[in-house]
Amino acid sequence: MAKKISSKKIKSKKYVYFFGGSKAEGRGDMKDLLGGKGAGLAEMVNLGIPVPAGFTITTEACNEYFRNNKKYPLGVWEQVLSNMKKVEKVMNKKFGDSENPLLVSVRSGAKFSMPGMMDTVLNLGLNEETLKGLIKKTNNERFAYDAYRRFITMFGSIVMGIDRQKFESVFEEIKKSRGVSLDTDLKAEDIKLVVEKFKKIYKKETGSNFPQNPYDQLKLAINAVFNSWFGERAIKYRKLHNIPDNLGTACNIVAMVFGNMGDNSGTGVGFTRDPSTGEKKFFAECLINAQGEDVVAGIRTPLHIDELKNKIPEAYKQLEKVYKKLEKHYKDMLDIEFTIEEGKLYMLQVRTGKRTARAALKIAVDMVKEKLIDKATAVMRIDPSQIDQLLHPTIDPKAKIKVVAKGLPASPGAAVGKVVFTAQDAEEMASRGEKVVLVRTETSPEDIGGMAAAQGILTARGGMTSHAAVVGRGMGKVCVVGCGAININEEKKRFTISSADKEIVVYEGDYLTLNGTTGEVILGKAPLVVPQLTGDFATIMKWADEFRKIGIRANADTPKDASVARNFGAEGIGLCRTEHMFFESDRIKAVREMILAEDKKGREKALEKILPMQKNDFIGIFKAMEGLPVTVRLLDPPLHEFIPRTDEELKELSKEMGVPFEKLKAKNKALHEFNPMLGHRGCRLGITFPEIYEVQVKAIIEAACELKKKKIKVIPEIMIPLVAHENELKIMKELVERVAFEVQADYGVKIQYTIGTMIELPRAAITSDEIAKYADFYSFGTNDLTQTTYGLSRDDAGRFLPYYVNNKIIEEDPFMSLDQNGVGQLMEIAIKKGRMTKKNLKMGICGEHGGDPKSVEFCHRIGLNYVSCSPYRVPVARLAAAQAAIKEKSKEAKELTKSTV
Ligand code: ADP
Ligand code: MG
Ligand code: MG
Repeated sequence: MAKKISSKKIKSKKYVYFFGGSKAEGRGDMKDLLGGKGAGLAEMVNLGIPVPAGFTITTEACNEYFRNNKKYPLGVWEQVLSNMKKVEKVMNKKFGDSENPLLVSVRSGAKFSMPGMMDTVLNLGLNEETLKGLIKKTNNERFAYDAYRRFITMFGSIVMGIDRQKFESVFEEIKKSRGVSLDTDLKAEDIKLVVEKFKKIYKKETGSNFPQNPYDQLKLAINAVFNSWFGERAIKYRKLHNIPDNLGTACNIVAMVFGNMGDNSGTGVGFTRDPSTGEKKFFAECLINAQGEDVVAGIRTPLHIDELKNKIPEAYKQLEKVYKKLEKHYKDMLDIEFTIEEGKLYMLQVRTGKRTARAALKIAVDMVKEKLIDKATAVMRIDPSQIDQLLHPTIDPKAKIKVVAKGLPASPGAAVGKVVFTAQDAEEMASRGEKVVLVRTETSPEDIGGMAAAQGILTARGGMTSHAAVVGRGMGKVCVVGCGAININEEKKRFTISSADKEIVVYEGDYLTLNGTTGEVILGKAPLVVPQLTGDFATIMKWADEFRKIGIRANADTPKDASVARNFGAEGIGLCRTEHMFFESDRIKAVREMILAEDKKGREKALEKILPMQKNDFIGIFKAMEGLPVTVRLLDPPLHEFIPRTDEELKELSKEMGVPFEKLKAKNKALHEFNPMLGHRGCRLGITFPEIYEVQVKAIIEAACELKKKKIKVIPEIMIPLVAHENELKIMKELVERVAFEVQADYGVKIQYTIGTMIELPRAAITSDEIAKYADFYSFGTNDLTQTTYGLSRDDAGRFLPYYVNNKIIEEDPFMSLDQNGVGQLMEIAIKKGRMTKKNLKMGICGEHGGDPKSVEFCHRIGLNYVSCSPYRVPVARLAAAQAAIKEKSKEAKELTKSTV
């Protein structure tokens, strides 16, 4: 038999960290090991702030507990016992003592605050014996029984899983029989009775008596805290917030202090500044003569903190000193919890406070003014995805609203309007000055006009990258997609929402409100508040620009979008799509004529009609972007997107063109492609139908010449889409140069323009050294590059991509955040090879990713010159780009100090 090893001889690892008195073993920066709560308590003790003594069992103990089949690693319990002795010493009480008992709370606390975790158990350590001690010591029988009553409820429900309602209903019964409505009106006798009944409930539900040994109670509670890490709620919460499962939770044991010892006691929670406006004003609530859980549980309505100032002024003064000290130390707005026991203040929690975007901006700017933080820190404090909130009107948070369905929040903001079911109706009603919400099963490119005219778009089908979502975001339109609960009957012009008990019918013309930030669909007109781009917002943006290395442009197709982008700080247009211009109602006919024409001559005739319209488009956009570069992409999408869908439309066209209907119909059919995404589109059109691109180039250069004559500076960049082979670009470049030369000669004006290409096919990325010979610039079209790298069609990916993401087969939707390891590698190859051929080749990105903060950071890292995103994302991209630069700099600084030490 192996020799028995005495466990005492093995020095076990440190699993328990003490805090209390004047010193803690832990620190504020030990969140990984001690959890947020434990680290905060330790930090406060180190700052000399009053905290009841206690200790934290580490996340490491939790993780080992699970690794060893729910067995604690060696030494944990011994360390708990010895730390309990230390707590007893500091608090001058004894755990389990019948004269002067120490009671504790048992609190979970992971690195990130997690509402999914175990609730706190208060008053642990009470039993028949210690109860007597508590009565003796406090001389307050009622208080002691009330503490016991609460403890049995919490222990029974939270630790043992008994339905809390079982306790509550007995409690309510007794209150009723005594004719009182408030807990505080019950007498000691009544509560004694409650305790007796509770113990019986406990016995009945668990099969054993309420545990009398305080250390048994403690062990069971610690088990419950650790087990809650893999509780259903916690797992769900982590999944939702992308928190890894292997962090584990810590467990805090804290000596109880009592806010319910009379009118000289109380409890409260607060923020060091207003979390919704950011105003520098203590924002707190309290309850006099209450235990902390009463505030949270909403049993009594909390009072304004001024009440504390009036009733227990001494404690308020202490609190004021403490919160100011804490804020100064953490240099951030904080969320705090405190309790006052007979006039003495104890802090029970501190963490950085959650805040609205508006508050975040104000607090960051104010703290720079107060010299608490520097500009870089201020810029880093703002969450780029959060400021999106500020750029769109939102539903008044104070309004009472009725949510009737929920879809995916595809494009943020709030929209109110009358329901319409077709793009045509939307345009028509909007032209009469009506505000409309366009409701469609799905949208298609033909709906663009209606989408532009509507306040918001609601679709029954489609995901976050569906046509409606992408176009909606691009336009800055409020958009809710994939709202499966609505059932549209376009013919009868109505839709129904089926909920559990009834069916709601919404007719054309009824008012509807969409919340694109949450995906909520609301009946009627919800009141909106106009976003205030306060001075703080501008200040942060200005600071961001001081750090930013990478340029920010916008994807804009209209003069209106262009000026919105410019107002938000865009430094040019990175993508001006010419096809959107073709959809406008008066032009689509000419475009269709061009597509369905018999021959080159027919096409040229139709193109002649298009030329002046296109020229005007460009004049508008160039003017709005005076002095800044504008990248114009020549026609890109498959032609079938433009062709008539119905016989009626074809008939009308046949009349106009003087071509027999049957002939047109046959031609229309012949244009059908099996896989249009990989079909006759992009420069393949330009090569086979050069007259299309010729007209577009002519329109661009003529517009530029006319403006130049008016002394308006224009910088056109002509971009060729979907190049896969260097020869394609070579041919297109010759075409552009030839036409541009002719136009300039005609006008007698010289224009500075450049020619470049999209890199959106893997072959182009890989042969970038060859393609670069003919390009002045590249723009990564990462939407198509993602489709072609993954070999999946974005329009069909909705059937499996969500499954992939939900089951963590891939981490993120590659259309939302750039696939850095796959698509990103192709980009890096293209950059490297391209710059081998041309050292100063200018490069940017114009896919949807240009507005995604993580992707912006990646673009900064791989050395792009600019990112281009939708106009409303420009501030987001500016901020994200600044943060990327700041992060890089601080990393460099760290490495520098490492190498010099
Ligand atoms: P949460 O994670 O939900 O904030 P906490 O562990 O902070 O849970 O506990 C909730 C409340 O319980 C605290 O705000 C405080 O009022 C009360 N509480 C916790 N521990 C103690 C204690 N040792 N003494 C007095 N009250 C406590
Ligand atoms: Mg909690
Ligand atoms: Mg708390």
